[in-house]
Amino acid sequence: MKITVLGAGRCVTGSKYLLQWKGFSMLLDCGLFQGPAENRRRNWKPLPFPAHRLDAVVLTHAHIDHTGYLPRLVRQGFRGPVYCTPPTRALLRVLLPDAAHLQEEEARYANKEGYSKHRPALPLFRLADARAALKMLQPIPFHEWTELHPGVRFRFFRQGHILGASAAALETKVGGGGRKTVYFSGDVGRYGVPILKEPEPYPGSDILFVETTYGDRLHDPRDPYEVLSAEINEAVKRGGILLIPAFAVDRTQEILYMLSELMADGDVPRVPIWLDSPMGIETTTLYTRFTSEHDVEMREYFAEDQNPIFPPNLKVTRTTTESKKLNGMPGPGIIISASGMATGGRILHHLKQRLSDARNTVLFVGYQAHGTKGRRLVEGEEEVKIHGQWIPVKAHVSSVGTFSAHADAQELIVWMERRERDPEQVYLIHGEYEAQQVFAATVEKEFGWKPQIPEIGEEIFLRR
Ligand SMILES: [Zn+2]
Repeated sequence: MKITVLGAGRCVTGSKYLLQWKGFSMLLDCGLFQGPAENRRRNWKPLPFPAHRLDAVVLTHAHIDHTGYLPRLVRQGFRGPVYCTPPTRALLRVLLPDAAHLQEEEARYANKEGYSKHRPALPLFRLADARAALKMLQPIPFHEWTELHPGVRFRFFRQGHILGASAAALETKVGGGGRKTVYFSGDVGRYGVPILKEPEPYPGSDILFVETTYGDRLHDPRDPYEVLSAEINEAVKRGGILLIPAFAVDRTQEILYMLSELMADGDVPRVPIWLDSPMGIETTTLYTRFTSEHDVEMREYFAEDQNPIFPPNLKVTRTTTESKKLNGMPGPGIIISASGMATGGRILHHLKQRLSDARNTVLFVGYQAHGTKGRRLVEGEEEVKIHGQWIPVKAHVSSVGTFSAHADAQELIVWMERRERDPEQVYLIHGEYEAQQVFAATVEKEFGWKPQIPEIGEEIFLRR
């Protein structure tokens, strides 16, 4: 058996691993490269195999950097099946059409502005490809073995991170009647965060592939409830609108949950909350619906007929007309909208409307990448350009660094330390190279393993 790294090798996006046996081949994750243009250009490179010859795809979770290449694969002739957990399938029905829409928009814009090298500029995939990909999804419950090919089977373990996120354990028969297991961590979630069940510990395997996004970092140790309530109380005192740019999947639900609890406990005043994100509304419904994924506290709320991610003072605005009505809304009040880094979406309209008023507040609740509007605002820019118009920044801009869906270096160690046996081969993936080198040293010190850090294109063989 051979494994080829096709993405997330010494970088954090494009997760894609080709697994090949005699007469059977599959992809573990099928992600898009995201971020700077030189990353995104990789999405156009041809795959090292014909897509129609691929037998199956297994997806660990719904994030686009793990799934967004699937419609492209379909466009190139892949005909399925694609295995994932039931909640992952539900999320993908929201995320993949949206990704296709963004691709089409981008191509349209490039043609209008004439900045693309391709003439005409083409989308990586279209809505029809995303819809075709969705038809191939086969939901597999956690822990249930599924045979992929005679002698090859896999199952999912819960990983926290986002709704439906999993690790995948693949088992393959080897000579002499033995079996070998390859374990892919997917993205590892955190301990002690609300709503979802915690990650299940790594049980041990022959080969381990582990993500290292936060391999060299620890999360802000401050209590997120305290930080959040201090910021909200300040914002309410100013009397304006508090804008929270948040990703539609997971961050929006986490913020709603915390707002609910802070308001119920009287730590912050019960002001109106608007969720102005069609995708955020859909994903919040999914987070509500999949009760099998809820942790103990969430179950207790539901047992008492309460839904902390849909509090009584929450209003949702689906249509553009409803969204526009918020422009005239006086404070105090909270508007949650996407995208989380203010790179697009309805949050831009709200920023355009609210930034020039000193009574308003913008609170960022996630990492802001270089080159994004979010980053420029957090760094204190006095003017930002939105939809071609310069807007003076008079509003109070703040950021809370305590939120993340990824385990930090210490939590990754905790995730691995309860195993029943040691892996023979360990590969660090899904991280920047510097962070991975730091984490490799940590792992060697803790467990005595010598992890490898494969590059894109590297081939890995299962040792006999
Ligand atoms: Zn992820």
